[in-house]
Amino acid sequence: MQFQITETKGPAVHDRRFGKLDWKASALGFGCMRFPTEDGDRLSARIKEDEAVRMLRHAIDGGVNYVDTAYPYHGGRSEIVVGKALRDGYRHKVRLATKLPVWLVNSPADFDRLLNEQLKKLETGHIDFYLLHALGKKRWDEIVLRHNLLEQAARALKDGRIGHLGFSFHDGYEAFEEIVNGADLWSFCQIQYNYMDTESQAGMRGLKLAAAKGLAVVVMEPLMGGRLADPPRDVREKMEGFPVRRTPAAWALRWLWDQPEVSVVLSGMSAMEQVDENLRIADEARVGCMSAEENALIGQARELYQARTVIPCTRCNYCMPCPNGVFIPANFEIFNYAHLFDDVATAKFRYQVFLNEAQRSASCIACGLCEEQCPQKISISEWMPKVSALLA
Ligand code: SF4
Ligand code: SF4
Repeated sequence: MQFQITETKGPAVHDRRFGKLDWKASALGFGCMRFPTEDGDRLSARIKEDEAVRMLRHAIDGGVNYVDTAYPYHGGRSEIVVGKALRDGYRHKVRLATKLPVWLVNSPADFDRLLNEQLKKLETGHIDFYLLHALGKKRWDEIVLRHNLLEQAARALKDGRIGHLGFSFHDGYEAFEEIVNGADLWSFCQIQYNYMDTESQAGMRGLKLAAAKGLAVVVMEPLMGGRLADPPRDVREKMEGFPVRRTPAAWALRWLWDQPEVSVVLSGMSAMEQVDENLRIADEARVGCMSAEENALIGQARELYQARTVIPCTRCNYCMPCPNGVFIPANFEIFNYAHLFDDVATAKFRYQVFLNEAQRSASCIACGLCEEQCPQKISISEWMPKVSALLA
């Protein structure tokens, strides 16, 4: 199937390379998981549809050519609203990305059922970029490989329902490497990456690995769910003291766009002012745009954040594997996150979602075997009950 794209170029188009594809992406991508809502709940299914449609079209008119949604966003309504927004010729101005809800797959046939439902909701016959949503080691082994989803995807690529296959990712670097190397169908991937996540999740190593293998890298959570846009006072003062004044969000985004391995940075925009602000910031950002002084500023901001770290775990992994299955560095990272950003609720969510039962701190039996391996001399068995007390 041939699908024609006739993009208009606007200020946000900066000719970002997109892996091996003969197509240039806009620096800014529109993430459709935080549309404005009627009840103010940012994940609600009650999207303010007219406003969301206006915002998305305004961004496209401004040069955004990558639109990202997913099956579960806004309780399943995001794809429907995106479908409406892309009427009147807008579908042909963008590349459209959505994601297979891998956790809803119980048999190989579920791939086609879900994909066909998504095509209908999006009012299109073709999804340019289709991702297997939120992969980690467990989903890769127990769902993707078990149900031969790569074979199903190959059929959808062949019959034109999808243009390119990728995956979004939430796990550690080792799992990322396994998944990147586990299929030759990947054209791109989507990772959580920002100036505070260089060593966690896929991290900078993952970014460079994917780029070296010819994959485009789409970045999500560039502002850590908005936290880097509203930093603590010491970080804010450091940024305000720099000769060039930029908002904390602009610094965080500019740091990303400076890197040639980054293709598109997704922003989940909730208001028209955010769209305009992001278009303006994107317009100034280029590969190599950060001076040595600017990079030093980001390094100082990172150090100020890290000074708030409670457990000095460097994620070196020397303590792993725990014979009882505890994912030691991940527990410490989530615990530290709660203190770094004063956000226990999100940390609790991560503890539940990103760790299975055996991996959680509560599974520690205080055998102490891991502790002699730790170069930081962390009393791991003493910290685990404290992690549980806060997060379990
Ligand atoms: S002390 Fe806890 S975390 Fe360390 S090896 Fe024993 S069970 Fe695992
Ligand atoms: S060995 Fe220590 S520093 Fe390294 S990951 Fe384990 S707890 Fe963290």
